[in-house]
Amino acid sequence: MIDQLYQNVVAKNPNEPEFHQAVKEVFNSLAVVLEKRPIYRKFKILERIAEPERVILFRVTWMDDRGDIQVNKGYRIQMNSAIGPYKGGLRFHPSVNLGILKFLAFEQVFKNSLTTLPMGGGKGGSDFDPKGKSDDEVMRFCQNFFMELFRHVGPDTDVPAGDIGVGGREIGFMYGMYKKLRNEFTGVLTGKGLTYGGSLIRPEATGYGQIYFAQEMLKTRGKSLQGLKCLVSGSGNVSQYCTEKVLQLGGKVLTASDSNGYIYDEEGIDAEKLAFIMDLKNVKRGRIKEYTDKYPKAVYTPVDPKLDYNPLWNHKADCAFPSATQNEINAKDAQNLINNGVFCVSEGANMPTTIDGVDIFLDHKILYGPGKAANAGGVATSGLEMSQNSLRLSWSREEVDQRLQGIMKSIHKAALEASQAFGMPGNYVAGANIAGFLKVADAMIAQGVL
Ligand code: NDP
Repeated sequence: MIDQLYQNVVAKNPNEPEFHQAVKEVFNSLAVVLEKRPIYRKFKILERIAEPERVILFRVTWMDDRGDIQVNKGYRIQMNSAIGPYKGGLRFHPSVNLGILKFLAFEQVFKNSLTTLPMGGGKGGSDFDPKGKSDDEVMRFCQNFFMELFRHVGPDTDVPAGDIGVGGREIGFMYGMYKKLRNEFTGVLTGKGLTYGGSLIRPEATGYGQIYFAQEMLKTRGKSLQGLKCLVSGSGNVSQYCTEKVLQLGGKVLTASDSNGYIYDEEGIDAEKLAFIMDLKNVKRGRIKEYTDKYPKAVYTPVDPKLDYNPLWNHKADCAFPSATQNEINAKDAQNLINNGVFCVSEGANMPTTIDGVDIFLDHKILYGPGKAANAGGVATSGLEMSQNSLRLSWSREEVDQRLQGIMKSIHKAALEASQAFGMPGNYVAGANIAGFLKVADAMIAQGVL
């Protein structure tokens, strides 16, 4: 029956492989739930939860620095609002399409439910590529993007945030345009700057939360991060703060990457080297290869499109923290990680492991925290930013960090307990999908046939 439901989703949503993958993983986890609780079949919850409540697709026209007119696509997927306003990031990347955003919005529904905060699921973005664009071009794009999106969002309706290609700079430009058009100073976006309603710890939250989640998993085996060797991918927001937290907890980070290649630093990326990466990526907007100009003992390996595996995942280590993008660990990479001694994987990126790769982790019973649980600290802290905006208060760094730690602990507990209650102890994939699903499904039933 589950397979038939999945096939129907594939037939209704052709040419969206990432969306199919995300749905398949969740549906597979839910077979046991439907057996135990047939009410979810009666109310067709799976059919409804895989169909966005609303999809907004629009044109974004803007002028580049040479005076040429540029045209991009803009999207917002309002996936599910059963438990709160739509909430989820905006991604600006040339690969963005409807299927990728639907996969991200679908994941977001379960993730947001897990955070314990009242947030529905959404996602959006554009095929605009911020790379190589001037600040003025990025500003003009963001303003034009929000000139359309402003009418579909609002602090009680839909609250976007950042994702790949959307950081503090872009959020600032979009927030400014929203404020101008609506003449309202409200919490319509999260990830804002501290001077205009942002929350302390929001930039750090996804990477920190990913490591808090790893800590909780390690505790179940009486271990800590102290002295463990870690492979981290990416060099953007999530990756940087994942690395920072690993260092604070006594672990050693060996790698960083971008879409052109990765660096391996056998001596470890320490706090000074991390500061170099942050400046390189956030200020100079350079490439990770430049790390080896400054630290020549590190080795740079460019991406080789002919390889069927990613060499970043083929080093001796204890932990892996994928923090770049979807499907960056395939079955071969997963096997390489296991062969190299990795026993803990906590995902900062969304769906960075293919379904075959996930199966290998589960078969080997390593500690495996899927993105929708392990990276939920970002959106959870966005939820805390919304609360602070509504209260017109700002909490201290310590207070937000304490709340973030508390939320990551409760997500871990909810996923672990659901995995036990439904007969798959220690399977955080099933546990996170089930725990996230139950709250949303029950709210959908309570609200009637919509
Ligand atoms: P950033 O844009 O800050 O960084 C992304 C990093 O991943 C960059 O190093 C980028 O390299 C690399 N990357 C992007 N696309 C590819 C690709 N196709 N192949 C290889 N490398 C790639 O984004 P974030 O750090 O915010 O996001 C990283 C991941 O974390 C994403 O999966 C995102 O959905 C997820 N996430 C983010 C949250 C947040 O709060 N920001 C919350 C939860 C999840 P390059 O510079 O070359 O593009």
